[in-house]
Amino acid sequence: MNNNTIEQIKDKLDIVEFIRQYVPGLKRSGKTYKACCPFHTEKTPSFTCSSEKGLFYCFGCQAGGDIFEFLMRIENLSFNEALEKLADLAGVEYKPARGLSGEELRRANARKILDFAKTFYHKNLFSVQGSYAREYVKKRSLTKETCQKFELGLAFNDATALARAAKAAGYTDQDLKEAGLCVLTDYGPRDYYRNRLMFPIINQRGDTVGFGGRILGEGEPKYLNSPETVLFTKSHVLYGLNLAGPAIRKAGRAVLLEGYMDVIGCHQAGADYTVAPLGTSLTEEHARLLKRYTENVTVLFDPDAAGIKAALRGGLVLISQGLFVKVASLPDGLDPDEYIAKYGKEAFEKILGQAQDLMAFHTRLQLDLYPQPLSAQDKTHVITELAETIAQQPDEIVRREWAKYVAEHVGVDEQLVLARVKRPGLQKFSPRINAPTAPVPAVNATNTAEQELLAWLLQAPQGASLCRELTQSDFSSAAAWQLFSAICQTAQEGLTGQELVEKVKQAAPAHAGALVKLALTQPPEDFQPQRDIAACAQRIKQNGVQKRLKEVQRQMKALGAGNVPQELIKEYMLLRTKLKK
Ligand SMILES: [Zn+2]
Repeated sequence: MNNNTIEQIKDKLDIVEFIRQYVPGLKRSGKTYKACCPFHTEKTPSFTCSSEKGLFYCFGCQAGGDIFEFLMRIENLSFNEALEKLADLAGVEYKPARGLSGEELRRANARKILDFAKTFYHKNLFSVQGSYAREYVKKRSLTKETCQKFELGLAFNDATALARAAKAAGYTDQDLKEAGLCVLTDYGPRDYYRNRLMFPIINQRGDTVGFGGRILGEGEPKYLNSPETVLFTKSHVLYGLNLAGPAIRKAGRAVLLEGYMDVIGCHQAGADYTVAPLGTSLTEEHARLLKRYTENVTVLFDPDAAGIKAALRGGLVLISQGLFVKVASLPDGLDPDEYIAKYGKEAFEKILGQAQDLMAFHTRLQLDLYPQPLSAQDKTHVITELAETIAQQPDEIVRREWAKYVAEHVGVDEQLVLARVKRPGLQKFSPRINAPTAPVPAVNATNTAEQELLAWLLQAPQGASLCRELTQSDFSSAAAWQLFSAICQTAQEGLTGQELVEKVKQAAPAHAGALVKLALTQPPEDFQPQRDIAACAQRIKQNGVQKRLKEVQRQMKALGAGNVPQELIKEYMLLRTKLKK
């Protein structure tokens, strides 16, 4: 790989500003920035990044690396895909040094043919034969601009329309099948979508990954989604997020709706912070996706039994991932797109403003199940049910508040509610959902003197001159020694910051993971490089002396009195004086 390209990209892009797109909560803390980690669930920020070093590191789940590593992890990209995206963003020209892997090729190919299909369907909608579909769209009050913004399309009532066009453009039967656009039969490929209004499904990166199709006229099923493919996993995409992202950040809140038409109708009326899952229930993946944009989600649901159940279940998934959830419902039994078309954005937002906290919502639902005042037995039922919701809440403070709320509204003691929450089996919140597995620490993490010395040297490489007395035997691990040597070597070249870390990484590639952590370890507020580095070096030297002394004593004992050679006795004396110093 062309290292120069990578360096150029890193120089041009600020890792903190880049990460901020995914982690809006980044706050300055000394020389670095901190936030709750996007890769694991936590309530106290342990995710750190630094512009100066060009690195990120999470002290909670040990995820760490440079801007490439971050993008690969958060978007699930291969290195080549991340390189392509970052080079584009940085305006750096590059030629891929190696061919794409099989998987990358399949994905790139699928992206290409899905784009082709999107354009094909979109043209159909505005063609002469497409007038019947335009009629339908008009009946649903969608404007031409909206159709263009969402790139809506039309699949003709023709079994091979797309297949023929795609093959004329050079795509194979296999391409069509892999992208989920055709089914292969004995008679050749047959279009998956026929006589449907087409909704391209575009992920948050702007890639077309599949389609949803609504039948025009009679027929089943009413809505048909692409099958899962190399690009498309239903539970990983939220419809509309590619357009809603900036608005969600601006509003500080996302609103979850049920279907494509809801999202499109709401966006058309100006409520452009709305998204919807693709006919599936909400998943942890959805929750993590939303968390890149905001911590606050309002679930707008159908006030029927199924809708209430879905809102509650979805809400629980969202809170388990550390999101704050409210629920709201529309009066009159109208769908969101119908409601907003009839009453306007202001009325719609008024409803959102009246949304209830998930806990209040669940409490009211439970209380409505029983006659008032509650009998002792009914109270037990209600508390047991509500304790499950409380137990999903990862934030201790919110959990307490909820227990208090429930206690007041059900009429029991708060301690009883908390006791019920703590019952075994109820604490469903696990702080490490899908967190990357922690790498084996290459540097002895329990040796604080070594950890600090290496970290402080990365902050103040000129301090290396204070460590001349240290030798390999002073260090508790080979890894620590290798990193120490690499840092001292590089410090001599006068490098600092990102360049220093980069050079050290090249000199000791096996310890790159440990290096990232060290580079982002914050020195104490009263950090004085000369004093603190000298103190660490002294402690390490003493540890080394002690270690050697123990070894000498062991040898002397093994040899027995009278058999100890002169040199060993001399060394013993010398070590004793050094230790006293
Ligand atoms: Zn983490």
